[in-house]
Amino acid sequence: MTNSCAASADSWADAPAALVTGGSRGIGRAIARTLARDGFCVILTYVSRPEEAERAVEEIAAAGGRARALALDVGDDAAVEAFFAAQIKDKVNLAVLVNNAGITRDGFLIRMKTEDFDRVLDVNLGGAFACSREAAKIMGRRRTGRIINIASVVGQMGNAGQANYCAAKAGLIGLTKSNARELAARGITVNAVAPGFIETDMTAKLGEAVVASYVEAIPLRRMGTAQDVAEAVAFLASERAAYITGQVLAVNGGMYC
Ligand code: NAP
Repeated sequence: MTNSCAASADSWADAPAALVTGGSRGIGRAIARTLARDGFCVILTYVSRPEEAERAVEEIAAAGGRARALALDVGDDAAVEAFFAAQIKDKVNLAVLVNNAGITRDGFLIRMKTEDFDRVLDVNLGGAFACSREAAKIMGRRRTGRIINIASVVGQMGNAGQANYCAAKAGLIGLTKSNARELAARGITVNAVAPGFIETDMTAKLGEAVVASYVEAIPLRRMGTAQDVAEAVAFLASERAAYITGQVLAVNGGMYC
């Protein structure tokens, strides 16, 4: 990918663009900022907090990059299809898709409501499926592209109280490997990044004792930062990762090797 977004300031249609779902906060925001740093025009999406999305766009602009924020519920298949038709196809040069949007609705198995299981699957896995399908149609025509899925260490190792989330993230790893095989012939690489325990709003709701016990189990003895994850994504999005596909890059401080 060439770092041409800032240089070709007039045309979003020509400069390489990166779409980051859930790019308004947390890990997605750091990914959006880092890909803009690396020269991509960034489209970041949000679902419920437009003000956070605008702040993310301003932050990127202040650093000399280009971004725009758009609303999209990735758990709504029809909305994803309409979004790609209206905002992406023939509007931007889609080089990178980062399927980052994710939610948790934790609970022990015997108490978990089917609607909480379904919603977590719909957003975390169904959203990545639908966005990948739409992006692949566009990237496939240009015979180039990068799809990066944000999975999780718990999709690899499991976690009590997260049957829905772990199933979704494990499924995302399967989706990554399958799509990597299928899309390679079209010049599209598909990889996953599996973060460990990262400091964001998602983990802020955990109590001090829980955090301390997690940190105890991390060989590098600290929580990860959103930037730790963003740098792995930036690598996979770069030319340096041209021959890597179907892989799961763990960013977890050694938590699960
Ligand atoms: P976060 O701080 O809670 O941010 C979630 C982002 O996703 C927000 O931008 C949110 O938008 C967006 N979002 C939520 N529901 C959405 C939907 N239905 N459609 C589109 N966007 C939606 O989460 P995070 O901790 O940064 O996590 C980002 C990704 O990393 C997730 O896939 C998560 O599973 C994964 N991950 C996180 C950790 C961790 O320790 N934090 C570890 C492993 C993996 P609004 O603000 O507008 O609602």
